[in-house]
Amino acid sequence: MTSSKTVAPQAQPSTLDLIGNTPLVLLKGPSEAAGCEIWGKCEFANPGASVKDRAALWIVRDAEARGTLQPGGTIVEGTAGNTGIGLALVANALGYKTVIVMPETQSREKMDTLRALGAELVLVPAAPFSNPGHFVHTSRRLAEDTEGAIWANQFDNIANRKAHIESTAPEIWAQMEGRVDGFTCAAGTGGTLAGVGMGLKAFDENVTIALSDPYGAALYNYYAHGELKAEGSSVAEGIGQGRITANLEGAPVDTQFRVSDEEGLEWVRRLLSEEGLCLGLSSGINVAGAVALGRKLVAEGKSDARVATILCDTGFRYLSSLYNAEWLEAKGLPVFPWLAK
Ligand code: PMP
Repeated sequence: MTSSKTVAPQAQPSTLDLIGNTPLVLLKGPSEAAGCEIWGKCEFANPGASVKDRAALWIVRDAEARGTLQPGGTIVEGTAGNTGIGLALVANALGYKTVIVMPETQSREKMDTLRALGAELVLVPAAPFSNPGHFVHTSRRLAEDTEGAIWANQFDNIANRKAHIESTAPEIWAQMEGRVDGFTCAAGTGGTLAGVGMGLKAFDENVTIALSDPYGAALYNYYAHGELKAEGSSVAEGIGQGRITANLEGAPVDTQFRVSDEEGLEWVRRLLSEEGLCLGLSSGINVAGAVALGRKLVAEGKSDARVATILCDTGFRYLSSLYNAEWLEAKGLPVFPWLAK
């Protein structure tokens, strides 16, 4: 089928230039549910299939500019997986090595992907941040002990949120032709929330920025009541923060929503079965938050509100978990009808 709308994406001079410039898509079901336009930024369309390719590229370029990363050097990072995948791709393109420290609770697909990309994978037991064995602390020590290595430090390295100030936010602004009323997403490092928030506010300070927090994270209570306090738990990977990272410092958060795994999963199910998008759970949680933000803006009198959110990564990364009946049942979560035996 040809379309009169066909505009070929710009040709790029190198593979690293494929990071960013992702499509934005109007989400039909969420827009109907909210009563206004809900748009999804297709970050799964990055070369590493997640929003974290941008942070990886900015962190590496920043380390090069500072002179801390030398030719042939090693990049060490602690990650739930997606940042590691982004770093491994960027490192391969620029001639660096990668060592990735990851909690052993993350998806099988992410581990296999990291190994396939040539990263050295170090698995550690899941532990609270206060425990020295936590994957973040382990990765810092490994970087210190490895000659010619840098620690990417995505949580507290603000080159991460700079990626979103300088690329994601201007892209959303341009794609929505300067008419953005609200933006929301969940936070892992907080780079996306703070960076897109700051970037959009620089265009128009009236854009409402909202946190969509999963259970088990402490940020909802922080923005609502000034207290870092977690309640409940979530199986969502890559999101759910318990502290104010350097990336979250000064994030322009106007309002906040808390989203359950069930609500997030319901949008994952609907986006797949009704709109043909196969996504991870953080995307579903973001979309649930975007619907809540859209409804709030409509209730406040903005009947033509336009809200953007992030579709963080591909569902193909979770075939053995989110898209697996036994796994869902074991977690006490509803099984998608077409997966039920
Ligand atoms: N969703 C997924 C699947 C992720 O891997 C991450 C990154 N940890 C996020 C959302 C959150 O992004 P950020 O680190 O920018 O807060």
